[in-house]
Amino acid sequence: MIQLHDATSLHYDLRLEAGGTLKSWAVPKGPSLDPSDRRLAMQMPDHGLDYYDFEGVIPDGYGAGTVLVWDWGTYTNHTERHGHLLVSVEEALRHGKLSFELFGEKLRGRFALVRKGRGNEWLLIKKRDEHSRAEADPTELAPWSVKTGRVLDEVAEDEAAE
Ligand code: MN
Repeated sequence: MIQLHDATSLHYDLRLEAGGTLKSWAVPKGPSLDPSDRRLAMQMPDHGLDYYDFEGVIPDGYGAGTVLVWDWGTYTNHTERHGHLLVSVEEALRHGKLSFELFGEKLRGRFALVRKGRGNEWLLIKKRDEHSRAEADPTELAPWSVKTGRVLDEVAEDEAAE
């Protein structure tokens, strides 16, 4: 799943379920469908599985701001090492490269997460397939929540009215 999060700065939180938790990356520019457009993805602490459909306003403290469920669905792990060996998601992440296919409502197709160096910086890269596009920006074309259809301002207004 991917949340759109209007915190100190606007970003997208990519969360992949693995090993009973949500592995998480903050993607400042959001996902791209253009294979030549590598997006910085900062690995963040794992989140609990119950966070997968969280939408609302975090009032203060860490991550304060408005959150909406930008996309959700399933994914499959396609990571190979040494030519043919399919490795677990956890092992793939330890080795700094995860290849996966997304089956979301907005995002589909093959992606890779590749760690840069030894820190928490990764790159989110769209692989070339029938879902890759050079011209379309999914964050501009589809800003709404897949859970409620609301955009960020509507989530914030609804919470303020309660
Ligand atoms: Mn966030």
